[in-house]
Amino acid sequence: MITTKNPYNNQEIKSYKYHSTKEVENILDKAEQTFITWKTVSIKKRTSLLENLANKLEDNKEEYANLMTTEMGKPISQSIAEIDKCIWLCDFYIKNAEDFLADNIIKTDAKESFISYDPLGVVLAVMPWNYPFWQVMRFAVPSLTAGNVGLLKHASNVTGTALAIQKLFKDAGYPEGCFQTLLVDHNQIEDIIESNILKAVTLTGSEVAGKNIAAIAGKNLKKTVLELGGNNACVVFDDADIDKHITTMVKARMQNTGQSCIAAKRFIVSDKIYDKFLNRFKEEITNLKSGNPSEEDTYIGVMAREDLAEELEQQVKDSVKMGAKIYYGGKRNKAYYPPTIITEVNENMPVFKEETFGPVAAVIKAKNNDQAIDLAVNSRFGLGTMIFTENTSKIYDVINKIPDGALFINDMVKSDPRLPFGGTKASGYGRELSKEGILEFVNIKTVYIN
Ligand code: NDP
Repeated sequence: MITTKNPYNNQEIKSYKYHSTKEVENILDKAEQTFITWKTVSIKKRTSLLENLANKLEDNKEEYANLMTTEMGKPISQSIAEIDKCIWLCDFYIKNAEDFLADNIIKTDAKESFISYDPLGVVLAVMPWNYPFWQVMRFAVPSLTAGNVGLLKHASNVTGTALAIQKLFKDAGYPEGCFQTLLVDHNQIEDIIESNILKAVTLTGSEVAGKNIAAIAGKNLKKTVLELGGNNACVVFDDADIDKHITTMVKARMQNTGQSCIAAKRFIVSDKIYDKFLNRFKEEITNLKSGNPSEEDTYIGVMAREDLAEELEQQVKDSVKMGAKIYYGGKRNKAYYPPTIITEVNENMPVFKEETFGPVAAVIKAKNNDQAIDLAVNSRFGLGTMIFTENTSKIYDVINKIPDGALFINDMVKSDPRLPFGGTKASGYGRELSKEGILEFVNIKTVYIN
């Protein structure tokens, strides 16, 4: 039995029964059957269903936003923004999917040769609670439009959202087996991946979950895309315009109550500008309103579960034992962890080495810009880096020093349907969004006619 709980008031929301083995088999069979017809549907028809999807998202925006806020504590204004972003995603693929999936003619010695992009079949998505709509749609919208069918194993604490997404696809007119939610414990995933029906898996979540899924999929020779944690550096060069960018830097760490893989977790600041940065950062953070996630003006809600807040608290405590200072914040109350600044951080501390999945900013002083880059790349993770500087002409020398999936200059690392999204190293592999994302779950097939 899964019981969801509102992390703000600890009240139970609803209980759900896990699917039995037989029910899981039926879901897999239905997915396989649906794929036989869905793959033959024209891309025009598939993109017209995306229009319905966007309209339904618009019509039910408040209902979906409230559901997310209740299940995982996201401030309501940010839940609304998440649904708006899903609509943008649909619009992007409505306009571009046909182009991305068109046969690609290549001149060779043959009479005719080209690449065709065929769907793979049934794809499993194991998804997290931090952006309960966006993470799922980011997989489902391009993958279904390419002709695949999707199965969702969502994080247990957002089961209501998982079922709402299944209904959304059905109400938008997709054949019923195109998108189905599985109510299963993650220990049941192995059997699902081993099924001959399943062709590929995508996971967004922790490194532990990613390694487990990749091992099972590897054993069964099934393709995987992994979008795991991050420990993004926000590098502040000595010529950065702090006043112009401080709100972006704060948002980069604090939005979604800090529970984002691409959040700025380590602020690496050049000595010359360090004091100014710290003062302004603290000033801005003091103004963030914490409170009831359902209230319109709340910016910092509660974390999605109390155990996640405890884990964050432990990372801070362990770093303090090693000499770090809590410069601001740092007192937990159940699932609430306040916006916090940690200073005097060194490279051996948990707040530097590990992903902190909550509103904690580790601030590190670098001797100069060069050392700031060295510190930034000292990470097991490789999702993204942001650099703030007024001298953008010099930045081209830095690009190839950053081994991450993304580099943003004078802005926060963010996902955008037009650009590929994904990481390197312990942040995973594969890409979502853009043309690269829609081509992850297709058979890139060579056709040669003589
Ligand atoms: P998990 O990675 O555990 O959960 C994400 C999804 O993976 C859920 O659907 C979960 O199912 C499933 N899952 C969990 N363990 C396994 C496993 N061993 N094998 C297969 N699937 C699994 O995230 P947590 O909720 O535990 O959060 C812990 C940490 O993960 C965070 O502090 C953060 O560092 C990272 N994280 C990263 C995210 C990102 O966007 N990259 C998003 C969320 C978390 P179930 O709910 O049934 O356990």
